[in-house]
Amino acid sequence: MHTSLNNLSPHTGHDAGGVAHGDDVKERVREAIDIVDLVGSYISLRRSGKNFVGLCPWHDDSRPSLQINPERQTFRCWVCNVGGDAFSFLMRMDRLDFREALEQLADRAGIDLPRVQGPGSDVKRALYEVCNWASDRFVDCFHNSSLAREAREYLRERGLTDDTLQDSSVGFAPNEWDWLLRQAQASGISTNHLEQAGLVVARQDRSGHYDRFRGRIMFPISDPQGRCVAFGGRVLPNAPPDSAKYINSPETPVFSKQSMLYGLDAAREAISHSRRALVVEGYTDCLAARQAGIHDVVAVLGTALGQRHARLLRRYADRIVVVLDGDDAGRRRADEVLEVLLAEPVDIRIARLPAGIDPCDQCLTAGPEAFEAVIDEAVDPLDYRMRETFERLPHDASDELALSAVEGVLKILSAVSPRSPLPPSQRQLRQDRILGKLSRRFGLSRDALQTRLEELSRSRRTNDVPPSPSTEGLRFDEAELVPWDREVLSAILAAPEEVSDLLDRISEDEISAEPAKAILRAAKSLIAAEKLPSLAALLLELPAAELHGLLVQLDESIREQTHLDQIGRLHHLSEALERRQADRTAWQTVRKLKTSPLQPDDEAAMIEQLVSARRAAQGMTDPKEG
Ligand SMILES: [Zn+2]
Repeated sequence: MHTSLNNLSPHTGHDAGGVAHGDDVKERVREAIDIVDLVGSYISLRRSGKNFVGLCPWHDDSRPSLQINPERQTFRCWVCNVGGDAFSFLMRMDRLDFREALEQLADRAGIDLPRVQGPGSDVKRALYEVCNWASDRFVDCFHNSSLAREAREYLRERGLTDDTLQDSSVGFAPNEWDWLLRQAQASGISTNHLEQAGLVVARQDRSGHYDRFRGRIMFPISDPQGRCVAFGGRVLPNAPPDSAKYINSPETPVFSKQSMLYGLDAAREAISHSRRALVVEGYTDCLAARQAGIHDVVAVLGTALGQRHARLLRRYADRIVVVLDGDDAGRRRADEVLEVLLAEPVDIRIARLPAGIDPCDQCLTAGPEAFEAVIDEAVDPLDYRMRETFERLPHDASDELALSAVEGVLKILSAVSPRSPLPPSQRQLRQDRILGKLSRRFGLSRDALQTRLEELSRSRRTNDVPPSPSTEGLRFDEAELVPWDREVLSAILAAPEEVSDLLDRISEDEISAEPAKAILRAAKSLIAAEKLPSLAALLLELPAAELHGLLVQLDESIREQTHLDQIGRLHHLSEALERRQADRTAWQTVRKLKTSPLQPDDEAAMIEQLVSARRAAQGMTDPKEG
């Protein structure tokens, strides 16, 4: 076995828990998965020659920079220079570790994985199980318990059908302090796991625990893979007036409300189809829209739509429409989201429902057409903000009030991302239009407005954090390799069947760059395990994403050099290797002569050695003389 590689490879490291044939399973999964299908389920792809192309999810891509090579089963973005195989794609896309990616792909391929114990993934698995178990309990209670009668009546009254409620696993947590705890104890579920999953809370005096969700309609929240990871609990209409309308699970190792959205797992496909994501505020609104036949809809989890949500949606949608209730709270929330979202390079629109009407009612009473009509009228956030500002400002407003309103609009204008998907000319037009309106309405000069806008933009830029680490990890570019390193790696990728003799003769010391050393080590250890150091095998063997990008990049360069005879290439490399080694010996001899006093005999022998090494080296460089 290749123990030397275990240290650097989490792939093998993850299997250290005792899977005898971990490598076989990985290979079987790899062979069963088609990377075009996999990537295509996240990003819309189109054929381009032998390859497929799509918009890269890791940079602000406006032309399709992500290339999928079905023949090599690799992906690569030539702008951010990330690349790899199906495993690395999924790991990067859904932020999984290798084991999780393997599990998902195995699932997809219908291959049973041997169960493996790994730290961290153990806790996560336990939390998925606990959430899933609790969800079943809540659903059962909702449909069958007399304790849930009021909840059932309320949701039916709102117009949600049994089918909708069942499909979305809506449940109910009765108004008791230990309803879930008692059942957990009866089912042998550990209180520790319940607490970690946020379902129960420890008492202040540590004398025990109590249920977090009491007397609430329970909406299970799933991660994009469809696993239940948290809950949102809504009060019943006749709850005490001081109770929060919604409470959600706290952050846990599997749940982050900043980066998850209610209903995304169910809506993902519809969103990537329509390229549009509707974002509503309530879970019932989301379900009502779905029931009315509008499927590209998600809900925020009791927070404003933030940057990470926008980035998540941007993977699937070209346009995000934020649907706000017609009340004052909806207006305040619009202010919260605008600045954040305008900084994101995505087409964001704001739709406001008529006052007093919520999206759920709109969908279920007025019908999907009425809801779509509201969506159609969604406006650019800047226009939205202008309109709001003008509407809110009394006609006899003081100068101070007027100025602060102007400042508010300029601030939002300055937040518009320089990476906005709008073409620059259109952005300029929009800016001119808004400055023109402000100038006319408030009697301020265009120049003054322009100057203030520039000031605000400047201060925003200096406060800005540097570009987001969306292209995580280091990148290592082919161009950074010294020619020798590149040639060795290319030889491996070009002729994996032929390269083993050559690799025997190349030691790690002969390679300069650390990434190239790691690839050489992996190739050697594959050979030691009697496997071909092919691209696919190397990708599977090597843990680091930056190495995957480099490997795919090198592989593509080789595929482009169709004129090169790959065996001839090996031959040249082998000759060059001899030259290098002869040179090195000579150099070492010279150094010894310079640094150590020698006996005359020794010295003579060494000089002879030097001369013959020189000759050998020169013979190689210039065969005519040799
Ligand atoms: Zn990219």
